[in-house]
Amino acid sequence: MAARGQQTPLFAFGVIADIQYADVDDGHNFLRTRTRYYRSSLQLLRNALESWAASPVRPEFVLQLGDVIDAANGSSRGGPGRALDAVLDAFGSSALEVHHAWGNHELYNFSRRELLRSGLNSGPAGGQAPPGGDVHAYHFSPRAGFRFVLLDGYDVGLLGVEESSERYQQALRVIRQHNQNQNLNRPPGSGLQERFAMFNGGFSKKQLDWLDSVLSSSDESRERVTIVCHLPVHPDSTEPSCLAWNYEDVLALLRSHSSVACFMAGHDHDGGYHRDTDTGVHHVTFEAVVETPPDSNAFATVSVYEDRMDLKGNGRTRDRVLHFPGRCASQNQSRTPW
Ligand code: ZN
Repeated sequence: MAARGQQTPLFAFGVIADIQYADVDDGHNFLRTRTRYYRSSLQLLRNALESWAASPVRPEFVLQLGDVIDAANGSSRGGPGRALDAVLDAFGSSALEVHHAWGNHELYNFSRRELLRSGLNSGPAGGQAPPGGDVHAYHFSPRAGFRFVLLDGYDVGLLGVEESSERYQQALRVIRQHNQNQNLNRPPGSGLQERFAMFNGGFSKKQLDWLDSVLSSSDESRERVTIVCHLPVHPDSTEPSCLAWNYEDVLALLRSHSSVACFMAGHDHDGGYHRDTDTGVHHVTFEAVVETPPDSNAFATVSVYEDRMDLKGNGRTRDRVLHFPGRCASQNQSRTPW
């Protein structure tokens, strides 16, 4: 049911984050404050797919925001390959097109090279991606006037690359400037500095230049752009320990382009939300499936209208109305109350 205004959506899509399936017994997060339901998460994915299939507003595609399988698969029966097959089979049983962002847990289980050859490489063959073919980023337009850009938050990172590679050494230089801990998975300091941990990563200049050019083209075409990434980039939409290393570079880009409407991320299992007061851009961080009890769920169905996106949450994911930013001076007028 549309909240107000235009009643029939132009199209709809689904969003789900941090499924972290593993064929192992339930466990806990690092601080042991949350249960992780590793086996149940696959059933919650199936429940979400069934719900989308039965929805009166059927999504045309799904955004899977990363960490689809857990690092715990290293000790599971059949290992990570079997776990990945299980989640891809579940997605495959629906006719839905799925766009997969890559998270840290994919990179604990597989190298970047292996992921590029796997079913998690959802990029189109040729074009619409940064040059070189080694970054999992691309854009697509499901309808005239709307574009989605999927970003690679571990383009600069220590995970999934060989220690002897220049890529690894560059990332090591970045993190070492901020993190002196012997275990680089331990966040340094406090506040925003906490983001310089190994389970996060960043964006190369090549990827940012490419994003800049995609957004310039969308500005000219007056498109509404939604950006998708495993890592959040706004400090008010997440715990600081979950932010991308060079989040400021992305925020600066978003603020220089009128086409950007929304940034969707996972990684912070409690979720989060902030609307940038300067630009009106929505930063939505989605709750993790893996920390959702078996009798609940965590996913969204987003209906897109000319002036807004209606996000219908399920289980732990709450409803939100995401009005598109104004294209000129009065962006703050349309701020939502939450
Ligand atoms: Zn993650």
